Amino acid sequence: MTEHFTGNFTQQEAIPEEGIKAALEVLQSGRLHRYNLVGDEPGEVSLLEQEFAAQMGAKYALAVASGGYALACALRALGVGPGDRVLTNAFTLAPVPGAIASVGAEPVFVGVTEGLVIDLEDLADKADRAEVLMLSHMRGHICDMDRLMEICDGAGIRVVEDCAHTMGAQWRGTWSGRHGVMACYSTQTYKHVNSGEGGFLISDDDDLMARAIILSGSYMLYERHLARPPVEAFEAVKYVTPNVSGRMDHLRAAILRPQLGDLERQVARWNALYRVVEEGLRGTPGLTIVERPEEESYVGSSIQFLLLDWGEGQVEEVIARCAARGVELKWFGGAEPVAFTSRYDSWRYAEAERMAASDRVLAGIVDMRLPLTFTQEDCEVIARIIRAEVGAVFQGG
Ligand SMILES: *Cc1c(COP(=O)(O)O)cnc(C)c1O
Repeated sequence: MTEHFTGNFTQQEAIPEEGIKAALEVLQSGRLHRYNLVGDEPGEVSLLEQEFAAQMGAKYALAVASGGYALACALRALGVGPGDRVLTNAFTLAPVPGAIASVGAEPVFVGVTEGLVIDLEDLADKADRAEVLMLSHMRGHICDMDRLMEICDGAGIRVVEDCAHTMGAQWRGTWSGRHGVMACYSTQTYKHVNSGEGGFLISDDDDLMARAIILSGSYMLYERHLARPPVEAFEAVKYVTPNVSGRMDHLRAAILRPQLGDLERQVARWNALYRVVEEGLRGTPGLTIVERPEEESYVGSSIQFLLLDWGEGQVEEVIARCAARGVELKWFGGAEPVAFTSRYDSWRYAEAERMAASDRVLAGIVDMRLPLTFTQEDCEVIARIIRAEVGAVFQGG
């Protein structure tokens, strides 16, 4: 009998009881706005920021309305504006070039390797074209951060890290997000903690963080933040920094606090699922596993493999055959953007030079989510189905 998978690839786990209880208390208080505080109560948002900063070993943290907002806020804090160029990954999701475009700047795309990380040779070649790199750790793949920082420091490029897929991941024991001058996270439902929408910015830089806090819509209430730079840092920027409202509220913060506390355990669960799929796919003819470097400790909330040098029709056939058996694969190589997948040439507001080596990789990237509602047995079934269907199409040639 043909095996079918019946699980749901977009079903996340319930919010932990502790978060639900804290959220109810916020609702009962009626005080949802982050600055709606009584007496000297710190409020859920400030506590969340303090806890996240401590968890990441960062001096400062700011909770905001979304990951995309955090990216644009970081660019604004860095003074990126109309006509400026910003280096970024060719392999990423639409909110990344979108954040660059939202401040009137232009993305300069840097290629992707078969390891699905930014091509450091291409980065070195393009290093003289911009003063900021928005580095997307796309799908959780972390490049050689030591080499990347060497290139960027050498060229005077400031790095903003997009850690939407690397919250809880590390490069040689350093948290992802602690190499650049600022780092951005998303707490949107499909990332590593879930508040529906939301995001974080972290930094050790007094001036940048003071600007980011004012930008986020703090008015002159910034003193109430617990994970903020000293008041003097605000004095220098408070009259010249526009308010671009994008605050987080107490309700979402209440939901997030227990989830952050549980992150390490969740990462271990994701990685257990990831390893089952990876092992199940290993050795499939025509399929390339994306090997993870030893220096990287990743969060396997999704898995990618490559169907390198396959014809478009064949990749489409694999996707369709897997879908018919309940396995939802996404293809990043399609000419037409579908759901969350798109290619750098899909963003037609941005000029892009063709990159042949990257195009070859992008054309072969197949992606699959691994929600924590799946069991290891589910992952065995999924891997068997992919293996069989890739094999069938590959042999059919
Ligand atoms: C989700 C995501 C973002 C944006 O986060 P939102 O909270 O949805 O705005 C940015 N970059 C990447 C790589 C993402 O996956």
